[in-house]
Amino acid sequence: MSIRNKILLPLIGLLTVLLAVFIYRIVVLNVHIGNIEKKIVTTQKINDLTNRMGLIRQDTRQSVIAYYALREDRYLMNIERNHVELLALIEDIRPLMDSERGRQLLNNFENSYIEVRAEREKVVETLRSGNTASNTKAFKSWEVKAENNYAALLDLASYNLHSLERNNLEYIDLVYSILVTWLIMLGVTLLLIVGFYFYLQRIIIDPIQELSVFALKISKGNFDTKIRLQSNDEIGTLGNNLADMSANLKKYYESLQKDVEKKDEELRINKALETQKDEFISIASHELKTPITSLKAYTQLLRSLHKRKGDESYETFLLKMEEQVNRLTDLIADLLDVTKIQSGKLMLRPENFDLCELINEVTAEIQHTTNHKIIAKLTKIKPIYADRNRIRQVIANLLTNAIKYSPETSLIVVSAKPGRHGVSISVKDEGIGIPEEKKDHVFERFYRVHEDKGNTYPGLGLGLYISKEIVTRHRGKIWVESKEHQGSTFSFILPYKEEIS
Ligand code: ADP
Repeated sequence: MSIRNKILLPLIGLLTVLLAVFIYRIVVLNVHIGNIEKKIVTTQKINDLTNRMGLIRQDTRQSVIAYYALREDRYLMNIERNHVELLALIEDIRPLMDSERGRQLLNNFENSYIEVRAEREKVVETLRSGNTASNTKAFKSWEVKAENNYAALLDLASYNLHSLERNNLEYIDLVYSILVTWLIMLGVTLLLIVGFYFYLQRIIIDPIQELSVFALKISKGNFDTKIRLQSNDEIGTLGNNLADMSANLKKYYESLQKDVEKKDEELRINKALETQKDEFISIASHELKTPITSLKAYTQLLRSLHKRKGDESYETFLLKMEEQVNRLTDLIADLLDVTKIQSGKLMLRPENFDLCELINEVTAEIQHTTNHKIIAKLTKIKPIYADRNRIRQVIANLLTNAIKYSPETSLIVVSAKPGRHGVSISVKDEGIGIPEEKKDHVFERFYRVHEDKGNTYPGLGLGLYISKEIVTRHRGKIWVESKEHQGSTFSFILPYKEEIS
């Protein structure tokens, strides 16, 4: 059953029962009150009629006595009028009498009145006959019957008074009953509200609390928690769904954990391999450095010997050999720099120097080795504070790259100008350029855009990596702008000394 039905059905049921009982009770009481009110009115009427009978009886009695004394006929006429009215009153009262006792008392009164009337007629008869002795006797007999008749009237009147009293008490009782009914209904309503609150607590508040504790445990990764909601409503469904979700999350979490462990293992192996590779590069470059230095020294010695002898063909070969040895020396120097960078041992020896002078120096040196036209566009710059050799290495690397990756005789422009926060240096070529999606990777270690086909672009993919490291260590920034087949511009900024400190 849905929660709405669980709340609405008992609520409607309870309210209906409550209202029905209440209405029934009030209706019944009102009917009773109506009856009693009717009874009171009737009794009141009987009382009035009885009083009237008392007055008539009194008047008749006085008329009988007056006739007895004066023998005037008007008294007889009055007696007769009273007689007719009394009989009519008896007939008026009769239908109003609803109890057996009342009817019996009325009958008593009527019978005794008939007797009184008979005696009264005897008195009138004896008075007319003139027999004095029987007069007195008849009068006395009438008086006795009249007293009896009066007693019967008093009985009737007092019975009525009692009825009135009883009805009044009954009326007050009923008013109390209505009051008590209201109070009972109030109490029952309060009890029902309290009961309903506990019912709501059982079907809604408690399960929601259980759900929230369960959800909290899931959120803390405790997927083994169980939830037991017996209800078949929306909350029960939510509980079941949460339990399913927890079970699925558990499975998912376990598989993720396995993946993470696998990845961790892979990372550990990769790191070990990387370390081994670094160690190998470090050892190999160190070991190569000494023989290459000796090789270079011997080559130079041989070349100068052959030059002195004037042996030109040997000299040319030895010059080529020296060039290759120089290239090898540069490669080993690069590898050694990488090793230093990796182990955090790349040291800078900063000094104040004239950057334009350095650029001119490097440009002139490199211009000797190439047919490309290198132009330096330099603005006057105040001395900068940096590691002169390392900055020279960066500029040389950018220039040799510009030469390597652009067609012979094309133009290369190296420029330097002061900026707000530092000096910016750039090397522009008209070469093969770099595809957009690869631009961001050229500063990575061993990354090469143009894979070497037929040794057109020899290299290890280390020059830009080392350059970036040097510039970054100077708190500078290096970047490239390039369009494929149109050329590239590599730029870097070196901050002024005051900017660094
Ligand atoms: P490499 O020894 O291969 O030249 P670098 O680190 O100096 O190593 O350069 C990384 C890669 O960036 C190069 O292999 C090349 O593909 C690309 N690159 C560098 N300079 C230029 C340039 N001026 N024009 C086009 N591509 C370049």
